[in-house]
Amino acid sequence: MEHRQLVIIGAGAAGLTAAIYGRRAGLDTLVLERGLYGGMINSTAEVENYPGTKRVTGMALAAAFREQAESFGPEFRSCGVQRVVLRGGRDGKVVVTDAGEISADALIIASGAEFSKVGCEGEEKFLGKGVSYCAVCDGAFYDGAPVAVIGGGNAAVEEAEYLTQFASRVYIIHRREEFRADASIVERVLSNTKIEPVLGCVVDEIYGGDMVEGVRVTRLGTGEKKRILTEGVFIFVGIKPTADFLEGSPIERSKSGWIITDDKMETSIDGVFAAGDIREKFLRQVVTAAGDGAAAAMAAYEYISNLKYFEDALFGHPHAYALLTSSIVPEHISLARDAEDWKKSSHAHIVFIDAHRSRRVMDELGVSELPSLVELKDGVTVRVAGASSLDDVINFVREVAP
Ligand SMILES: Cc1cc2nc3c(=O)[nH]c(=O)nc-3n(C[C@H](O)[C@H](O)[C@H](O)COP(=O)(O)OP(=O)(O)OC[C@H]3O[C@@H](n4cnc5c(N)ncnc54)[C@H](O)[C@@H]3O)c2cc1C
Repeated sequence: MEHRQLVIIGAGAAGLTAAIYGRRAGLDTLVLERGLYGGMINSTAEVENYPGTKRVTGMALAAAFREQAESFGPEFRSCGVQRVVLRGGRDGKVVVTDAGEISADALIIASGAEFSKVGCEGEEKFLGKGVSYCAVCDGAFYDGAPVAVIGGGNAAVEEAEYLTQFASRVYIIHRREEFRADASIVERVLSNTKIEPVLGCVVDEIYGGDMVEGVRVTRLGTGEKKRILTEGVFIFVGIKPTADFLEGSPIERSKSGWIITDDKMETSIDGVFAAGDIREKFLRQVVTAAGDGAAAAMAAYEYISNLKYFEDALFGHPHAYALLTSSIVPEHISLARDAEDWKKSSHAHIVFIDAHRSRRVMDELGVSELPSLVELKDGVTVRVAGASSLDDVINFVREVAP
């Protein structure tokens, strides 16, 4: 099976930034992408909050990300990831794609998010026949025609404004009486005479013949029903994680399916990192996705370096000892320090492991509590014991394994 040091799923802002950092750290890096390189930002008309670019189209920013990533030489492969299989061990992270299987030392999941559906009648039937989730992609088809936008957040309101350059009228239908979007954006957009807010209403049906002809809405509270004639319906009612390929995987996720990480982008599985919109996080934007990608790649680099170190110093040595402690427990830190001092006068080959940073190694060595001592012969654990003092370390090393 093909094996790579670092495999990145998704080439959006997070995945491409991870590729830049991964390659700059010298990692053999493969990026898998099933859609457009640059990801979600391709569907945004204008970005004006990414530092260093005052105003740029989403597509131009996406292209710049790819060009910069490409200059560091990662491999890009156009294919879809169908499953991630986690079996444990060095070759145990397997990415199943529609073009074969690849195992990886470390994996970064940067598969982003996708649009939520309204769930009303006609939404699926008229997809591509008047229903769209991307104003930049489809807005120009509605030159001189009325369109409706469903949603009330920043994306809905901004995309409604974008559509005014083509459409004769843009209705923004939102279930609440007020928009959720930033006040400054709402003020600007509502001053546009082509925009007509339809607040406090839900869409029951998108109807038409071959193509969309209108929407039926109900006013919440009064139950009043009305039709709005429109040729296009643009839906921006939120996003959900793109994580179909993680169905049944042990990677910890929130109730809504976002991947839970720490600030090093580590997931609940050693060597598996997540970056960008797919994470459970406060702000889903290009700038935070890029930041996540950088952190994930550097954490993956540290993980892979540790992996190599353990392989050489521990599993590849004929007779080794390991002292496993946790770098966040003061007593463990001083025990490790004392043992390191003692090691200088002994001839034993002792490897010091911070198990807080490397949970996987505890499993591999058969250790369940800290601090612990392990004796290995030819890479195989022959003895394990707890250790609470330097004397325990000295006695363990002086004893001979049965
Ligand atoms: C309408 C709209 C307007 C926005 N405007 C702004 C803005 O002005 N400023 C801003 O900062 N942010 C904006 N955002 C948010 C921004 O687009 C995202 O936060 C950012 O793109 C997230 O990047 P990402 O790399 O995490 O994910 P994405 O960009 O979503 O990239 C994920 C990639 O993974 C790929 N992928 C997913 N599943 C698989 C699979 N199974 N196999 C292979 N590949 C896979 C996808 O094809 C995709 O290319 C906007 C978003 C929308 C929807």
